[in-house]
Order: sequence, then C-alpha cells, then structure tokens
Amino acid sequence: MIPVYQPLFLGREKEYVNQCLDSTWISSKGEFIGRFERGFSEYIGANHATTVSNGTVAIHLALEALGIGPGDEVIVPTLTYVASVNTIIQTGATPVFVDSLEQSWQIDPQDVRRKITPRTKAVMAVHLYGLPCDMAALVSICEEHRLFLVEDCAEAFGSRYEGQHAGTFGDIATFSFFGNKTITTGEGGMVVAKEKALIEKAFHLKNQGVSQSREYWHDTVAYNYRMTNICAAIGLAQLEKADEIIAKKRQIAAWYREALNGLPLKTHDELPHTVHSFWMCSVAVNDPMVRQPLRDHLKKATIETRPVFHPAHTMPHCAVAQSFPIAESLGARGINLPSYPALSQGDVEQIAGAIRSFFDEPSL
Ligand SMILES: *Cc1c(COP(=O)(O)O)cnc(C)c1O
Repeated sequence: MIPVYQPLFLGREKEYVNQCLDSTWISSKGEFIGRFERGFSEYIGANHATTVSNGTVAIHLALEALGIGPGDEVIVPTLTYVASVNTIIQTGATPVFVDSLEQSWQIDPQDVRRKITPRTKAVMAVHLYGLPCDMAALVSICEEHRLFLVEDCAEAFGSRYEGQHAGTFGDIATFSFFGNKTITTGEGGMVVAKEKALIEKAFHLKNQGVSQSREYWHDTVAYNYRMTNICAAIGLAQLEKADEIIAKKRQIAAWYREALNGLPLKTHDELPHTVHSFWMCSVAVNDPMVRQPLRDHLKKATIETRPVFHPAHTMPHCAVAQSFPIAESLGARGINLPSYPALSQGDVEQIAGAIRSFFDEPSL
C-alpha cells in the first residue's frame, strides 16, 4: 500500500527525545520548548511564537487572544478543514463563509469584501494544501476595514508569498504539527504573532491564566493548551531538516506535474509570486463523476488517496442556505495523492501510471 502520508525522521529526533527521558523533563517545561519556539520564529521570520498542543487549539487560542467572541463575525473560506470553522464557533463568534478561486483553490478576496458587515472582526486566511492565499489583497482589505487578519497555516509551513513566509502577514497565525503535516511533533501546534502583547496574552490563556508574579493565582477562564518538551524535541529535530523536507516535497510535485500531463485533470500548481510547499499534491479531475471511480481504481492498485475537504457549509452544524459554486465544485473534483517526502520518482511514476490506465480504459 502506498499511503497518502507518513512522516520522515531524518535527523536528531531520537537523540533529542532520549535527552528528555534521561533528564526527566518530559512535561511542558524543559529546554526544547524555548529552542523550538525560537528556531521556528527564526525560520519563518516571525516576531514571537508560543507552542501549543495541536493546530486546532492554536486557532482557538489565537481567536481568544484577539478578543473575538459572541456577536462577532469571522470571515473564513468554506473550503477548509473543519477546525478553522469549529474554533470560530467555540469562541461564540459566527463564521461567515466565502467562496474560493478556481485557479488557486484559496479564499476569494472579492467575496471577502462582499461579506464584510459592521460585526466583522477578522478574516481568516487558510493557505490550503500549501499554496498561499492572495495576501496582497487580503492585507489591504483588512487594513482598509480595520479587521484582524488571522492565518491558518496548518498546511503552509514553508510556503511563501512574494518571498515572505506564510504566517508573517497577519496579526496572528497558527500552525499544526500533526503526524501528516510538513513538519511534525506527533500532535502539536504553534501560534505566532507580530505584537509581543498578543503572544503574551496567548501564553497566559494557554497556561491556565496563571499570574506571572503570584503562584496559583488565576485571573481569567483559561486553558491547558501546552506542548510537551518531548514534542518540542521532535519539532526541533524536524525543523533542522525542514529545508530538505520541503525541497523533497516540491520535487515530488514536479514529478507528478510532468507525469500527469495531458490527462483530463488539473494539478494544484504553484502560482507566480508564490512558493507552494505542497503539503499535499492535489489534482481536480475535470468531471466530478469520475472522481470516485478513479479513487476506487487506485485503491485496487494499493494506492491510497483522499478527497479534498467537503465545504464546511455543507456540514450539518454549520449549514447555511447559500451556495458557493467554486468551493462545491472543487470539493467534488479534488483528490489528494500520496504526498509524503520519502516518495521516490519511481513511486510517483507508478501512481501516475495507475491514473493514466484508468483514463485509458475503453469503458469510460
Ligand atoms: C490540520 C489542520 C488543522 C488542525 O490541526 P490539528 O493539529 O490536527 O489540530 C487546522 N486547520 C487546517 C487547515 C488543517 O489542515
């Protein structure tokens, strides 16, 4: 079976984890927390960072740190992973969905403009599958309307727009280090911010709202969203190999692009002024009716695939009586192909060959 994903441990992961065990610093205090936060900030060019226990609570914490709550609206693409939307709902705010762009699959800035109301507090940009959103447009909309810009970079570690890393455009940004993300800590996440005060607020909230100056003194409703030193140890080792991992993923995407040329589908390509980190190598088939038969065909060839996310507005707990034609179409046509960094050119050719043989079948 060729899976969609598996992590790659090329570096000092074991050594660092053993250091945690040998030193007994296995909980959320220890040297690797600070080393991972500092190294991560440096890598993406962020001002401030704080680790958290996963990418979902990272978004929740970011929204809470901004003071978003009941009565507020947060604009979010409907074509995203459900965590982007659930965390908005968890603050008591209302997600306001926007459609996506056909070419990039990312949030449509013109639709963002249409959805702004007096209650809008923030726009959440999700860099889906590793291709950056149109940040020039989103930054200017948010400045013009005095809205917070939040970036969900769970899928965009290492992605760049005009040379600048995803996660450094918004007021606050979040990352995930789940096992299938570009760098992983097993479960884990990061919140980064431009302003020190904002990351201090996030730190306070992730740490039970405990006072810095008085023991066991808690001055607000807060959370335990801390990362462990063991996770940070793995994260630091992954970060040290990040360039290699991203280069490998970009190479794999280039192999796919070449090998799938001429078929009735479109690869999710890099656009001008961007660096696509290819968390996933994705395609959209021209005809939505062939998606499932193609996935079945690949499964028989022991190749695992995933469908692109169902648009959030189609799920029962976020249903709205509106249609989002591009998001719905991409949600019905999109497939994520095996995308893990250890794939060889031979693997990619085998997968592409299986896709080609599906379209060559005379029965279609
Ligand atoms: C993975 C992911 C998350 C959530 O991260 P977890 O670490 O799994 O909680 C949030 N948003 C997007 C877009 C994701 O892909």
